[in-house]
Amino acid sequence: MSTLPSFNVDPKVEAFRKEVRAWLAKNWPEKKRREHKAKPFKDRGYDREFTRLMGRDGWIGVGWPKEYGGQGRSPSEQCAFIEEMARADAPLGAHSTGESIVAQALMLHGTPEQKEEWLTAIRKGDKHFSLGYSEPEAGSDLANLRTRAVLDGDHYVVNGQKLWSTGGDKADYVWLAVRTNQEAKKHAGISVLMASLRSPGVTIRPSMALYGKTFSAVFYDNVRVPVKDRVGPENGGWKVITDALAAERVMIGGSRMTGLERAFDKLTSYLRTAKVNGRYLRDDPLVRDKIGQLAADIEVARQFQIRNTQMVEQGRVPIYEAAVGKVFAGELQERMGQIALDILGAGGLLGEDSASAPVGEMEQLLRHSIMGMIGGGTSEIQRNLIAIRGLNLPR
Ligand SMILES: Cc1cc2nc3c(=O)[nH]c(=O)nc-3n(C[C@H](O)[C@H](O)[C@H](O)COP(=O)(O)OP(=O)(O)OC[C@H]3O[C@@H](n4cnc5c(N)ncnc54)[C@H](O)[C@@H]3O)c2cc1C
Repeated sequence: MSTLPSFNVDPKVEAFRKEVRAWLAKNWPEKKRREHKAKPFKDRGYDREFTRLMGRDGWIGVGWPKEYGGQGRSPSEQCAFIEEMARADAPLGAHSTGESIVAQALMLHGTPEQKEEWLTAIRKGDKHFSLGYSEPEAGSDLANLRTRAVLDGDHYVVNGQKLWSTGGDKADYVWLAVRTNQEAKKHAGISVLMASLRSPGVTIRPSMALYGKTFSAVFYDNVRVPVKDRVGPENGGWKVITDALAAERVMIGGSRMTGLERAFDKLTSYLRTAKVNGRYLRDDPLVRDKIGQLAADIEVARQFQIRNTQMVEQGRVPIYEAAVGKVFAGELQERMGQIALDILGAGGLLGEDSASAPVGEMEQLLRHSIMGMIGGGTSEIQRNLIAIRGLNLPR
């Protein structure tokens, strides 16, 4: 259980939590967890077999509406679900992008046929996605993208390059932003395709990110994508992308939050007994001050997450709210990593695999914070969104 007191006292939520734990105990037992942890760090968090088990038993899409085959769970239940998954170190990487980003955008913009085909496959754990937005000249200014798709009969022919694609070397499909009109204003000439990464003409070059996982440059050389796999109208992709980005920010905020809770638990457990120079660390007023503030901040991150999940569940698109949640949780992770290293001193720099690490994972927590502060749009861009879309300040 978490060190933080839980306010999910709703018996329905607690009953659901027990159900999730029981499923995990059976399908993700200690032995499998140990085997997974023994893998190289870059491969952890990704397990096709586990994703298939989750799909088989209906655990992908717990928050999706029932009409799409989901469980229609409440925001509190969804938060309990991701908390339990995080506590068990369950590897959700193979399906999380499809489940939390692609599926949300498909529900809003997909045709009935696309919903039937793709939502079903994602829910069963059969289609694994990565995201293809960023390019050498298009990051924060995403509408600057140049990868182009030209119509040829019932296919698009795609040429160009994408960058920083998380999981690009592992996924089967990419949610791909392309330019379909060279003449239109930049936001008006973009479309979204769901393309197979196994197609002829796709070259994937992974490289190692600071936090120990790979992301990829992906090259498209005359890659053919069926027109039926375009989501939303041709040249109307900008709206699809902004809605998908909102879903991504909710997901990033959520995954930060659960990681933070877990790390906080480990840190506070250590502080209960640790001594420096014969004195308990827990008695140090500075340590208490920092820990108390972190506990309060985690509760705030959690509230943002519950609100955002609720909005998604209601079919609303939380643009401003998702930006607030993401910027807060992303920066909180960096803050927590720094505080942990301050408290732990040199030992905090030891990785989780080191037997003498006082609390493993803290240096990794700090390195990983970059993901929350840059991926899905940087903190500066989130603040711009908050000012413009939330507070109606001029551009
Ligand atoms: C860990 C990680 C995973 C990622 N995964 C993916 C992925 O799966 N798929 C994908 O497509 N992309 C991915 N990205 C790319 C990410 O979305 C971009 O890096 C991000 O949007 C920033 O773009 P950029 O790197 O081109 O920086 P730039 O846009 O060049 O920005 C450089 C700096 O300038 C600031 N800046 C730029 N414009 C403004 C402005 N208008 N106002 C204020 N400040 C500004 C930025 O905040 C930043 O600090 C990932 C990135 C990281 C770090």
